[in-house]
Amino acid sequence: MQIVSDKVVSIDYTLTDDADEVLDSSVGDAPLVYLHGADNIVPGLEKALEGKSTGDEVRVVLEPEDGYGERLAELISVVDRGMFEGVDEIEPGMEFQAEAPDGETQIITVVDVDGDEVTIDGNHPLAGQRLHFAVKIVDVRDATDDELAHGHPHGDDDHEH
Ligand code: ZN
Repeated sequence: MQIVSDKVVSIDYTLTDDADEVLDSSVGDAPLVYLHGADNIVPGLEKALEGKSTGDEVRVVLEPEDGYGERLAELISVVDRGMFEGVDEIEPGMEFQAEAPDGETQIITVVDVDGDEVTIDGNHPLAGQRLHFAVKIVDVRDATDDELAHGHPHGDDDHEH
């Protein structure tokens, strides 16, 4: 079956950076399952998979604007330590999940700690990076009405939402 909008697609993928370092991979784990045309994955990868079929292998290199975006200076800010209620030790490199104004989950990374002042970075950890994807398409199927209504695929065990 061919990949077009409203298909649920399963892929095995490995993501590497310009230095051939593996950033993320589904190999050895379950395939990534996404709803095509619903912004579940980065736009450049979705575009590269359009029209492909089960069994196809796709390699694509994405510039930041087709991946996780450029790094934005305005997403870096200094906040008071009090923001991190319940966290005993705050250190550079720690990641927190926060809810962005649009309701999406956003990863906040601590980049510097100076007394009570904590510098945080709301850029996606992969923002500003060129992404090298090697993808194998494992399965393509029609989405259910539920999945289309929710805008994401449902597995065997996540119908409770
Ligand atoms: Zn759902």
